[in-house]
Amino acid sequence: MKEFELIRQIQRETAVSYPDGFEHGVKLGIGDDAAVLEVPPDQHLVAATDTLNAGVHFPLDTSPLDIGYKCLAVNLSDLAAMGATPRWALLSLSLPKADPEWVHLFSKGLRSLAQLHGVTLVGGDTTSGPLSVSLTALGFVEPGRQLTRGGAKPGDLLVVSGTIGGAAHALDSLKAGETSTERYLLDRPQPRVDLGQSLKGYASACIDISDGLLADLGHVVKASGCGAKIQLQNLPIAESLDGLEQKKLWNYQLTGGDDYELLFTLPPHHEACLAHWRETLEIGLSVIGEIDDGAGIRCVDNHGEPYHPEGAGFEHFRTRP
Ligand code: ADP
Ligand code: MG
Repeated sequence: MKEFELIRQIQRETAVSYPDGFEHGVKLGIGDDAAVLEVPPDQHLVAATDTLNAGVHFPLDTSPLDIGYKCLAVNLSDLAAMGATPRWALLSLSLPKADPEWVHLFSKGLRSLAQLHGVTLVGGDTTSGPLSVSLTALGFVEPGRQLTRGGAKPGDLLVVSGTIGGAAHALDSLKAGETSTERYLLDRPQPRVDLGQSLKGYASACIDISDGLLADLGHVVKASGCGAKIQLQNLPIAESLDGLEQKKLWNYQLTGGDDYELLFTLPPHHEACLAHWRETLEIGLSVIGEIDDGAGIRCVDNHGEPYHPEGAGFEHFRTRP
């Protein structure tokens, strides 16, 4: 099988269907030197890219189905955190060998999420080499309406969607050979695209939690020039974490990555929106603390006692002591 047959297979197997008359804006897709895309009038283009390397971002024996799903999910999560509407994707695939069965499963995983969000694959690159997947997601947002990491103000509520810590715990359990927890890996992250769009005009700052709550909240407080206090007892608990010893639980919730939930700050006069979003979007939203004018992030337990967690999320190239 040659490169071009693989590309054609990917194109065929990732194609999504749109409702009649839907304007997906692809003037020229896969097959030429570059794609030509029409951004809707009065919208700005939003672009995000993320690379997944075998052995770094997923265990070597991960199913191609999960890799295909995840490479789109992580990028849609970034677009969601900006309040953007996703529409197109570009895929750079480095494969050790031309394996149609691998590509079939990969495409199936990718397509399942692409169809859900109406995302068309419009180009990419296919090379031979160690397994690596890099995907670029493109979408749009009304000018000036994007959600950013800056903009949080003292007094704003700190809110997180869904539950956190579950993905890191599942990975640890898998590494430890506990096959009984494998089922949690089937709980694929759901990029919170609808939530991101609903937050526009309300949230003062937003980020997706890919590297862990503390690490990503750290970006928000730095970009916003403020501090934050986390009430540990308010952190949402993933079902799989039930019954864990207290400090272990907090550490998963505070530093575990890969959950792809949204963390946002909400001025208190918009608090009533939370109930509305919970109901209309059928999503858990937990107020986990507050933005303040202190320095950095402080965590307190239910007695108001400070807690200092170990580690603070995933960072590449970090040298460990
Ligand atoms: P070029 O040599 O001009 O870069 P390629 O031969 O790499 O073109 O690719 C041919 C066409 O197939 C291009 O439109 C490119 O965007 C697309 N393409 C290549 N690899 C992929 C892929 N993995 N996924 C989607 N489209 C791809
Ligand atoms: Mg090329």
